[in-house]
Amino acid sequence: QAKLQIQDLVVQYNTKEHSTVALNNVNLSIKEGEFVSVVGPSGCGKSTLLKVASGLLKPAAGEALLDGKRIDGVTGEVGMVFQNDALLPWKTVFDNVRLPLEIKGFSRSEQTNEVRRLLGMVGLADFEHYYPKQLSGGMRKRVALARTFAYDPELYLMDEPFGPLDAQTRVKIGEEFLKIWEQVGKSVLFITHDIEEAIALSDRVVVMTSRPGKIKAEFDVTLERP
Ligand code: ADP
Ligand code: ADP
Repeated sequence: QAKLQIQDLVVQYNTKEHSTVALNNVNLSIKEGEFVSVVGPSGCGKSTLLKVASGLLKPAAGEALLDGKRIDGVTGEVGMVFQNDALLPWKTVFDNVRLPLEIKGFSRSEQTNEVRRLLGMVGLADFEHYYPKQLSGGMRKRVALARTFAYDPELYLMDEPFGPLDAQTRVKIGEEFLKIWEQVGKSVLFITHDIEEAIALSDRVVVMTSRPGKIKAEFDVTLERP
């Protein structure tokens, strides 16, 4: 059984002026532990696909299933990382990463141990008392990744997570993420406009085209991974 199964998905945005078919009959299946990237031009429906998988958006037709169950609204089983790192500026690095653990009902000492383990994993062990604004863009991104790992979701949805970083930092963080992800081994749906990044990180690259948004091709790139 697939971890994420997207079947005959159709999504339409209706505004006063006109309606846009953002996705037209999209089928996509992601196995347990598989890392799938979606690439394609701006406007081809990549973000829309993620919104459906996250439960934020209801399709006009078709469905998205997580472990065989229809995705209906936002749940803790799906973790999202966006371009904007969305850290809470008034909380320290430690507390930003701790929050999901508190919500999940970890004890105080479990929270502390887990936060330190996760910050160690992303190379920020010495920065737990810092506030987000005291960190570089790359460091903030790593805090956001640690926080997502703290949720420990069944499925990671990532929308251009390394988008605002410069090319060099992007490659570095991408490699770091891949190393951590290989230990966690959960399914990932990853959106990027950078085909090289997609090939470097993924098991499979899905190419979309626009007007209306659909899947044009899929490539198995498992062997290309360093
Ligand atoms: P991508 O992430 O690949 O750039 P999107 O999923 O954001 O593509 O958009 C797909 C299509 O849907 C585009 O034509 C876009 O203009 C349209 N669209 C996206 N969001 C909305 C919205 N909230 N209202 C109307 N149209 C939208
Ligand atoms: P940017 O997106 O700004 O390039 P980086 O993550 O590459 O972000 O970090 C920029 C600078 O921040 C580094 O050159 C270094 O001085 C400092 N830095 C980043 N991570 C660490 C770390 N784990 N330990 C110490 N300093 C760090």
